[in-house]
Amino acid sequence: SPDPASAPAAAPVARTVGEPVIVAQDVHKHFGAFHALRGVNLSVRQGEVVVIIGPSGSGKSTFIRTINALDPHDGGSITVDGIPLQGARNLDAIRREVGMVFQSFNLFPHLTVLDNITLAPTRVRGASKAEAQARGLELLRRVGIEEQAHKFPAQLSGGQQQRVAIARALAMDPKIMLFDEPTSALDPEMIKEVLDVMKELARSGMTMLVVTHEMGFAREVADRILFFDQGNIVEDTTPEAFYQNPQHERAKQFLSKIL
Ligand code: ADP
Ligand code: MG
Repeated sequence: SPDPASAPAAAPVARTVGEPVIVAQDVHKHFGAFHALRGVNLSVRQGEVVVIIGPSGSGKSTFIRTINALDPHDGGSITVDGIPLQGARNLDAIRREVGMVFQSFNLFPHLTVLDNITLAPTRVRGASKAEAQARGLELLRRVGIEEQAHKFPAQLSGGQQQRVAIARALAMDPKIMLFDEPTSALDPEMIKEVLDVMKELARSGMTMLVVTHEMGFAREVADRILFFDQGNIVEDTTPEAFYQNPQHERAKQFLSKIL
């Protein structure tokens, strides 16, 4: 029998992984003459948690913004839950599938926490106000700040605001959640409370694509790590393999700086 001491640690979360829900093939993106994405290929399965790391300017944000068409790509193809992302077509359908959380929380300052959460479900989904509020309170409970429901964003800490932003994205029942450096703007003591919410979401089976430099989170939660460099994915591997034995020179340099 295998020596338990040398066996890999038990999988931290038991999730089932299903069909591909994000398929990017040879994706390109230019900003004028600048070639920001250079032929990105990626397939993410339902239930997978994929962490994206890489140097500043390597195209991480650009890539995840192309997935919900915040930025149109200009070459290759992207399919989200079977829906091809083509120009302005299918935009609304795709955005219903994909929730996004940014570094800056982007809450509406003039709306209460609860109104921030109920706005899109009532306007876009046609939910009744009562229905949206009940669901909103349930989501606020899930992210641990139900008691803040009637405050305004400015009255909350950064960590609380980011948890509201997560609840707001979840209110649309997305199949996929994209996070772009969700803890980078937070004071250290608030990072954990946001990562804990993200871990719970991962355990619940959500498909997640997360740009973050939080290595503890990546090790504990990620199924895969993607390392971006100069507009492309240069490593796509497990957290263990990535940390123990990065293949790419830029990945080695990057790890030596952040670990
Ligand atoms: P990362 O998130 O990895 O730091 P980004 O995806 O934000 O990198 O940016 C990749 C490159 O594309 C950078 O060189 C950046 O300056 C450029 N870029 C991003 N957005 C724009 C834009 N709207 N206009 C022009 N250049 C941009
Ligand atoms: Mg970025």
